Amino acid sequence: MKVCKFGGSSLADAGQLTKVVDIVLADPARRIVVVSAPGKRNGGDTKVTDLLISLAEKALKGENTDRKFGEVVERYAVIADELKLGDGIVRTIESDLRDRLDQVSRLAPKEFMDLMKAAGEDNNAKLVAVAFSARGKKARYASPKDTGMILKGDFGDAQLDPDSYARLSRAFSSFDGIVVYPGFFGYTRDGKVATFPRGGSDITGSILAAAVCADVYENFTDVDSVYPCDPRIVEEVKNGEGIQTMTYREMRELAYAGFGVFNDDAVIPAVKARIPINIRNTNHPSEPGTMIQQSRRVIPGTVVGIASADGFCNIVIEKYLMNREIGFGRRILQILEDNGISYEHMPSGVDSQCVVIKEQFLPKEDERRIVNAIKAQLEPDFVTVERDLTMLMVVGEGMCYTPGMLARACLALASAGISMSMVNQGSSEVSFMLAIRSQDRDAAVKALYKAFFGREGR
Ligand code: ASP
Repeated sequence: MKVCKFGGSSLADAGQLTKVVDIVLADPARRIVVVSAPGKRNGGDTKVTDLLISLAEKALKGENTDRKFGEVVERYAVIADELKLGDGIVRTIESDLRDRLDQVSRLAPKEFMDLMKAAGEDNNAKLVAVAFSARGKKARYASPKDTGMILKGDFGDAQLDPDSYARLSRAFSSFDGIVVYPGFFGYTRDGKVATFPRGGSDITGSILAAAVCADVYENFTDVDSVYPCDPRIVEEVKNGEGIQTMTYREMRELAYAGFGVFNDDAVIPAVKARIPINIRNTNHPSEPGTMIQQSRRVIPGTVVGIASADGFCNIVIEKYLMNREIGFGRRILQILEDNGISYEHMPSGVDSQCVVIKEQFLPKEDERRIVNAIKAQLEPDFVTVERDLTMLMVVGEGMCYTPGMLARACLALASAGISMSMVNQGSSEVSFMLAIRSQDRDAAVKALYKAFFGREGR
């Protein structure tokens, strides 16, 4: 059995939805269809989820919601009309939205926001199920509530309660035909709607693939395959070959540094259950896409991708004879923990220690407080915070046991006149990370691409 997930761009209008129905009907193994809310139809358009957020904000402020409400309903109505699905489904969606809006005064703002955000996927799943039936195929909408998708944690950033796997697996074993399931949300134990982070329909698909032990989790989006680096930075990457196979480890490392195709957290349930993930293009369904799996045939000395992520800062702490002071590192981390700051990397020298943090966790207004705490508790000779850093990740199983990979990267950056402020390689040897100033990012990615994928890099 295959679980397929279709993103917002694959369901943005009637034409796209027709492609989705065709794709699913082309393979009887495609039994579970996870859907996002309708996405943007063109550059200037707004995703239904964003419309719903504006609608919820208006309701929370007590403003008139009629226009936004109409815009949301209209998105579904146009699709239903073009596909001749009848009025019934549009009325169902309209009344569902009204019921949700009516809860504004009964719920805490975060709970209400999640209830509204989830309406995008929930109603789309109902509409897509009707679209299958209209093509004469037995299909049903399944609700996260009835199937036991229980979430915990914060509203808007929820996580799966692991007990859900057994419930989901039981629920799906009794379904036949095609099941259309809304992505992005589940329910708390006390019955409130809670959403995953934005882009979270990928997570739902991955959870269901794990729960039913799918043969493959097909994630349909709008690219033929994953590119080895960001095509907005290196345009020619589109002319080369996309990535055919990659391992879970490679995907994880690339996703960490901003590879946008796949939601980072989404990989976890499928990876744990060892389900292969196939990223495919709704607009070119005959393309095989990129397969992400436990292992692959690896050519030594090759790299699978280069990723870059902006928005990092670095606390640099220097103290003579730091290496002899027991507990120095622990005390730095304690200060961060006491202030609720999560750190990313911690490269060190003999008398210096760096702590790399995402800038969002250490905004400028908090900097002085943290620096003062470090000064007071650790008595360093020098402490400063460097901002505007970019992390470059060079990733590939083929780098393991191959000498000279880091040298190639350093040489490429040196030739482009780019200085590195940090180098970090984990013992897995599947990736290394280089920190540079954000202003050098594009030049650095281009130089690395040339070094590893250009003619001389092959
Ligand atoms: N519709 C949600 C969003 O825009 C979730 C998703 O599409 O995966 O973030």
